[in-house]
Amino acid sequence: MSRAKLRDLGLDLPLLPTSTVGSFPKPDYLVEARARLGKNAISRAELSDLEKKATEFWVRTQEELGVDVLVDGEQYRGDMVAYFAELMGGFARGGLVRSYGNRYYHKPAIVGEARWPGPMTVEWWRWTQALTDRPVKGMLTGPYTLMDWSFNDHYPDRKAACLALARELRKELEALLEAGAKVVQIDEPALSVRPDELGFAVEAMHGVVDGLRAYYITHACFGAFETIYPGLLDLPVDNLDLAISHSALDLLAMFEKDPFTKDLSLGVLDVHSHVVESPEEVKARIRRGAGVLPRERIWVDPDCGLKTRTVEESRRKLAAMMAAVRELRGAPA
Ligand SMILES: [Zn+2]
Repeated sequence: MSRAKLRDLGLDLPLLPTSTVGSFPKPDYLVEARARLGKNAISRAELSDLEKKATEFWVRTQEELGVDVLVDGEQYRGDMVAYFAELMGGFARGGLVRSYGNRYYHKPAIVGEARWPGPMTVEWWRWTQALTDRPVKGMLTGPYTLMDWSFNDHYPDRKAACLALARELRKELEALLEAGAKVVQIDEPALSVRPDELGFAVEAMHGVVDGLRAYYITHACFGAFETIYPGLLDLPVDNLDLAISHSALDLLAMFEKDPFTKDLSLGVLDVHSHVVESPEEVKARIRRGAGVLPRERIWVDPDCGLKTRTVEESRRKLAAMMAAVRELRGAPA
């Protein structure tokens, strides 16, 4: 079914299509430049040039490695929620909250009616797609995660906030598709935070994508999937990208009970580890996935964004992934 949709969209992808989740590490010169912008030591135009240089570096790297569906690497984004919250109307900078360890950050706050400000990701998508013949994914943060990772000081409840954000994100999606994007990833890492809210998270995703033609992927990186499976399958997307590189591989046992009905992106690289997987390890992880789903429905990628790894670690991990996939493509099922 989804293979047919891909072909319909003009995408002829090989067996076990490969991609990455979204973010790549920023090269040192870009990290330094972002710090200097904060001190007004360089202009925004100078920073933008360096963001483009880094984006092109990652496009060429993905091409050299042989990745099938590319990302822009999010060299111009900080956090996946803050990026949108800083651009959209209705948001303000909220109070400081503690994240991991002793790091604090300003959690966005919804203080008025959410409003699409005009294209937020389209120019970067267009610029990146112009660099390559391979398809580049559009990358959005989903309405449920935008809502969950923000304070709500405006809407009567979480559902109302989530549905309002969906209505505005749909405008961004329309703009991306108009520019030519055919594969769009709408990330919902917060999805399993409150299983009782899955119903309106699904309703919100319908609000974003219904009637708009593209191949949709949703990445969900942490949480207890057993609490939202099989309800998760109600999400109106073609492909679920799940972090199952190591511990959570038991998830596959759940698929035997309640059959998985979509394409599955198997996250086969542990992005939280410095250790570079061997092609053998990656092959074993893909084979476990192929044990419960037809190979035609499996995509292969890292288990989350690679931004916390070094440039070299990212490249070596992806090289191992690609070596494993190439071997499996040549092997009998
Ligand atoms: Zn993730």
